[in-house]
Amino acid sequence: MAEKRDYYEVLGVGRNASLDEIKKAYRDLALKYHPDRNPGDKQAEERFKEITEAYEVLSDPEKRNTYDQFGHAGFGPQGFDWRQDFGRVRMDFSDIFGDFFGDFFSDIFGRQTEPSNHGEDVEMRISIPLRDAARGTERTISVSVYEKCPVCDGTGSKTKKGTIECPQCHGTGKVRYSQGFITISQPCPRCKGEGSIIADPCVNCHGTGRVRVMHKINVKIPAGIESGISLRLRGMGNAGPRGGPRGDLYVTVFVEEDEFFKRKGYDLYCEVPVSVITAALGGEIEIPTLSGKVRAKISPGTQDGTVLRLRNLGIPRSSGKGSLFAIIRVIMPRGFSREERRLWEQLKAVEDERNYPEIQKYRRKLSGS
Ligand SMILES: [Zn+2]
Ligand SMILES: [Zn+2]
Repeated sequence: MAEKRDYYEVLGVGRNASLDEIKKAYRDLALKYHPDRNPGDKQAEERFKEITEAYEVLSDPEKRNTYDQFGHAGFGPQGFDWRQDFGRVRMDFSDIFGDFFGDFFSDIFGRQTEPSNHGEDVEMRISIPLRDAARGTERTISVSVYEKCPVCDGTGSKTKKGTIECPQCHGTGKVRYSQGFITISQPCPRCKGEGSIIADPCVNCHGTGRVRVMHKINVKIPAGIESGISLRLRGMGNAGPRGGPRGDLYVTVFVEEDEFFKRKGYDLYCEVPVSVITAALGGEIEIPTLSGKVRAKISPGTQDGTVLRLRNLGIPRSSGKGSLFAIIRVIMPRGFSREERRLWEQLKAVEDERNYPEIQKYRRKLSGS
């Protein structure tokens, strides 16, 4: 291996150069030698690595100090560790150039943005009645997920031959094509960016290492769940291709409209129709709850829109439950029997306006205006 050049010399700056000078020198050189500007030019690529390495050391005060004292020997027998130092350079680089060059680092430093073999997450939607949502419930759902292929044990390969280098991209996982002076790099369509293909694909899974299986899964739905909440079941999603780790299963729970209740937070609201006579005389009414119905008394002269609050009959929360609000709707008769009409007319004859303060007040305002 050729003797390493002096980092200051590589960047063409003096030993007392400021950080700004070093950045500027690097920027100019990086733009000139960037592999995308010099497709297929091995020398430019080597030069680019060299200047980036020099920059990485000289732009870090601690490393620069080490280098100033010990030279290249300061970085051990392996010298500069690309893998370890990669992250920071990359950060600095996008800092200097923005995202102009995209992910060139993976191209030239061989650190591929690995095509993930992590299994995908799977989403399922279920809907449950409000009463079940309030109480908490369990559901058994059927979900189709990928499982490790039992025939090849997830390897995707029929024989022990395993994988071979992809003939289309020669193992790089990328294909490049030029448009004008710009070279565009894309994941290889043959190997889907993996750089290798299965030599002898398993017939059962066509080389993917996984097959679809229907699972029955029991899902516990916590009491008080709100509509639209997703429950995460770790590791219950798809198995990864070629034996990769499993994704998660998300079960999104929708709560159906209830025939009685509207939910607001942990409280429930329901309307209770009451005949005008019961409202006038007072009496007992029945109110639905999440579990059966309860009886309640209304006092004489209960007005339309009166709200009764029943504590602890709402939705369970961490401590206790919300309230159930019963809204009284006073209902007028839609018709009379002959007897009823006679009595209503008698009632009208003896009606005393003082028992209707709202009407009195209204009349006063009306005559005053
Ligand atoms: Zn298989
Ligand atoms: Zn390929």
